[in-house]
Amino acid sequence: MNVLVINSGSSSIKYQLLNTATEEVLVSGLVERIGEGDGRLKQKNHPGTDAEKVIEINQAFADHEAGMVMVIDLITDAENGVVADKSEIVAIGHRIVHGGENFFEPMLIDDEVVDGIEKVIPMAPLHNPGHLAGINTTRRLFPDAPQVVVFDTAFHQTMPPKAFLYGLPYELYKELGLRRYGFHGTSHKYVTGKAAEMLGKPVEQCNLITLHLGNGASITEVRGGKSVDTSMGLTPLGGLIMGTRSGNIDPAIVRYLHDRKGWDIDKIDHLLTKESGMLGICGSNDLRDIHERIAEGDERAELALEMSVHRARQYMGAYFFDLVDVDAIVFTAGIGENDEVYREMCCRELEPLGIELDKTKNVSWSGESAIISTGDSKVKIMVIRTNEELAIAKETAELVSGL
Ligand code: AMP
Repeated sequence: MNVLVINSGSSSIKYQLLNTATEEVLVSGLVERIGEGDGRLKQKNHPGTDAEKVIEINQAFADHEAGMVMVIDLITDAENGVVADKSEIVAIGHRIVHGGENFFEPMLIDDEVVDGIEKVIPMAPLHNPGHLAGINTTRRLFPDAPQVVVFDTAFHQTMPPKAFLYGLPYELYKELGLRRYGFHGTSHKYVTGKAAEMLGKPVEQCNLITLHLGNGASITEVRGGKSVDTSMGLTPLGGLIMGTRSGNIDPAIVRYLHDRKGWDIDKIDHLLTKESGMLGICGSNDLRDIHERIAEGDERAELALEMSVHRARQYMGAYFFDLVDVDAIVFTAGIGENDEVYREMCCRELEPLGIELDKTKNVSWSGESAIISTGDSKVKIMVIRTNEELAIAKETAELVSGL
């Protein structure tokens, strides 16, 4: 089934057209600067294959609809397109960052679902309005194609209250939905399924610690195939020390900064989200850079890496202690898949706990996934390439096939 996967932001649309049967990506692209004078569209047809073709367009896109019309034109173009007609796009899957407590599984879009996504805008003011702009656009342009929303928060809706509540007045949870939701759920779920296959066990019997380590990063405790705790919170700012996000800090720091620097809440929010994390410590949020600088003797870069790993190990330890019987630790996303030093530091000196990294396999893994622990390691260590677009496409196809 050809599924168009859309991640629509406030001024951008990221998209992929996939065939869910062959898992082939027909097209991937990005429309940027929607609503600004200098719009850009870049599309790759058959990305990553010998037949890859790149198309770039620089022009203003007044709104999401103008951008999407151009995408459809390119996809169905007689000469350079990949499908003959819009009707060959059978279904559309939308990535939604925040579903609040309204959504715990993918949903077919109708007015009620749109309403539910609108209701959680206060918790995801930077994301959900952009998602809704994308949904409204594709509902207009593809009136006959079923459309599905897949939520980053959904996988974590199995967390019990003891894990998802904050130590705040309970009434605030009831009134405002103030609780931890967790994110990257599509990725944590995807690698959980893959890890179960690699373990040769039903997913319901798998206890895992999954590390989605990218520019944004989160760690999830998976018990019996379900998320029972995760490091992110009400928003994707909580938990780990990330590329530019602070992760958990003492909440009193907000007031301290206000009192000492006179900064208002917007300034502090920007600081915690965009100027903190590894960037705030050493001036870079990219581990490739950070490693280069460590090699040149940059102590701040080394400190940033050590802080990030230290926080990750704290979560690994907490989840290990809670699960006790852990089948596998799974690394995924930009850092998890590509940074063998980071993986090695996360697993260092854990042999007494039955966690034994095979240092050769750690640096030489290739393909989609691999076990990088020693044959004797009680707990398997895995690297699995995440593929959120494919996961969304498959969830969409599954839901639509049942119609
Ligand atoms: P993501 O958000 O999953 O795309 O991950 C992006 C981050 O992955 C970058 O900021 C880098 O820190 C990291 N990354 C990507 N490629 C590599 C690599 N080859 N080696 C080390 N880190 C990498």
